Amino acid sequence: MEKRIIYIAGLGLIGSSIALGIRRDHPDYTILGYNRGEESRKIALEKRMVDQVTDQFAEFAPLADVIILAVPIKQTIEFIRQLATLDLKKDVIISDAGSTKAEIVAAAEEALKEKTIRFIGAHPMAGSHKSGASAADVNLFENAYYIFTPSHLTKDGTIAEMKNLLSGLHARFIEIDANEHDRVTSQISHFPHILASSLMDQAAAYTQQHEMTQHFAAGGFRDMTRIAESEPGMWTSILLTNPDAILERIEDFKKRLDTISGAIQNKNEDVIWNFFQHGRQVRKAMEIHKRAGVDSFYDIFINVPDEEDAILGVLELLRGTSIVNIHINEENREDINGILQITFKNRDDLERSAKIIREKTHYQVFLD
Ligand code: NAD
Repeated sequence: MEKRIIYIAGLGLIGSSIALGIRRDHPDYTILGYNRGEESRKIALEKRMVDQVTDQFAEFAPLADVIILAVPIKQTIEFIRQLATLDLKKDVIISDAGSTKAEIVAAAEEALKEKTIRFIGAHPMAGSHKSGASAADVNLFENAYYIFTPSHLTKDGTIAEMKNLLSGLHARFIEIDANEHDRVTSQISHFPHILASSLMDQAAAYTQQHEMTQHFAAGGFRDMTRIAESEPGMWTSILLTNPDAILERIEDFKKRLDTISGAIQNKNEDVIWNFFQHGRQVRKAMEIHKRAGVDSFYDIFINVPDEEDAILGVLELLRGTSIVNIHINEENREDINGILQITFKNRDDLERSAKIIREKTHYQVFLD
């Protein structure tokens, strides 16, 4: 296979995890890295994520066959403009990892239009609250969508080359228009982050007058607000680079709140019941119920007491059975019970496991 030089600018969580994924399938490629801070440069080199590092972005760009920008959105645009001034290899592929796409793609189309390069906007849809090369994870993108947003500068074969380069990420590659990407993510990601932070804000203010608020908050509130712990810098850039779609979602949501508020005022039981029933049905049907993009899984739910080794005991009984996933759902009464959810690949494993647990323990067992 042809030996290539890959340049990853930004060795944070995303950039360094991409580097590990490229290494997995292309150990013979040379990976060069840029990072502003010394710590991640050091880690990336020590852990052999990259072969060489620099703190000068322009230094390695002319050597690369592929350049992946994995820095904050504003800096991605800044680097695209710098690339326009550099002497790059002919037909080099330039890509990025920014969480919003339209502004980045528009900046690239404008800045790079006179150059013989190829550009493909991209958004690997996985992450965590961690940052820096110390958080690098070769499996970060496994089964996650890796979205490409083609534009004029995405010439024939560009996406195929990128898919080949990134095969070791084990991601699900998909193509979508940049504006449509920003609209869809405003609904399923950007707006929910606003809601989570608003809920935290509201609860914090309420706690001032109603002290028990913070103590009573349990499973449901925690699930709704987990993402309020996200990194503020990244979310500020996302809101600032996708304003139209996000503002439109906020206005839409206000109307939905007004509708349910009206139904409560009018004590309209049917409207309220249908509101919850509809939410329940669409959530059940949504892809979030299919883990890791595989269509069907078989779940068992076991009501386990909050006792030492209770979960280990259940797993011991299932030794030898192939388990896809384990999740502990803490109920409101976290101090008493937890629901242990175990996912199997097929119905036989599920039914056999349920039988064993029912016979060998006194725990309540429910099937999906
Ligand atoms: P990170 O904080 O782990 O890394 C950011 C990198 O950018 C670091 O290497 C940092 O040194 C560098 N950087 C920051 N400001 C810079 C500046 N002004 N000049 C030069 N370098 C600078 O963040 P990350 O999670 O790896 O995010 C990188 C990109 O990936 C962002 O565009 C983000 O929108 C996108 N992204 C993040 C996630 C996520 O959940 N973390 C998911 C998908 C895409």
